[in-house]
Amino acid sequence: MIIDGKREAETVKNEIKKEISDIKSKTSKAPSLTVILIGDYAPSKIYVKNKEKSALEVGIKSEVIKYPKDVSEKEILKKIDDLNKNEKISGILVQLPLPAHISKEKIINAIIPSKDVDGFNPINVGNLSSGFNSIVPCTPLGCLLLIKKLEANLSGKHAVIIGRSNLNGKPMAQLLLKENCTVTIVHSKTKNLQNECLKADILVAAVGVPKLVKKNWVKKDAVVIDVGINKVGDKIVGDVSFDELKDDVKAITPVPGGVGPMTIACLLKNTLECFKAQLT
Ligand code: NAP
Repeated sequence: MIIDGKREAETVKNEIKKEISDIKSKTSKAPSLTVILIGDYAPSKIYVKNKEKSALEVGIKSEVIKYPKDVSEKEILKKIDDLNKNEKISGILVQLPLPAHISKEKIINAIIPSKDVDGFNPINVGNLSSGFNSIVPCTPLGCLLLIKKLEANLSGKHAVIIGRSNLNGKPMAQLLLKENCTVTIVHSKTKNLQNECLKADILVAAVGVPKLVKKNWVKKDAVVIDVGINKVGDKIVGDVSFDELKDDVKAITPVPGGVGPMTIACLLKNTLECFKAQLT
């Protein structure tokens, strides 16, 4: 089965749109998302444009504040401080990657946890790893929603995650632990990656290496979630060799059209959650 991430994302977006419309009719208030975009890195510009378009579609007010690549760290921190204090702003996102002279750590720490729609602030990371309620990074949250749509009860499943980034691998592991999976994280120093992957009932690949996962790496009844976005020539491919695996696994996400659309849908979901928490 090929998992249709676009369709699932549309379902999530429709639910969000409905909820926002209901809240707006009762309170006359709507969520708002501010995105800070620094420099002119082409993929970031495309991501931000897509985020803005999707936000507007569901009724989230969206503003993109653009800065040249030589903007000072101080100016960005000042803007974040203003946005933190502005009651009209529900969520703040600073598009990564940042220019080398701006500290990612300082920027992530500066966004107040209650408006941290990316879920990167250490307070949110700590809450997630403690099993408490938290804002969860958008891509792993999107992966979890796709997996749970297929199998509501994940208890006892063996999940193998390739990649241990703060963005993807680690929060994915925390989410699957919370679902009572047995979780293995593998990375670039792991010995015999194939053997580890063969244990997976659920395999999540978040690596950035085109078509790393091959046909004989995965059990026949596995669910395979491919987070990778890799440009190979003029094509975008995932971390999984989709054509080799698609007929031999229980379910698999394509790239594009799998996890990507769910990431944006979950950003909207997080913005709505932040807004609702601020309403009360
Ligand atoms: P990252 O920060 O570069 O982390 C990659 C991870 O993969 C690291 O933990 C690294 O191990 C591991 N790794 C690298 N080569 C490996 C190998 N040959 N074997 C096993 N593990 C290996 O990347 P990321 O930010 O998590 O992103 C991963 C991929 O997801 C990228 O293609 C990115 O473009 C994509 N992505 C997609 C979405 C989406 O919405 N679909 C969102 C974000 C990112 P070490 O820790 O040992 O270095």
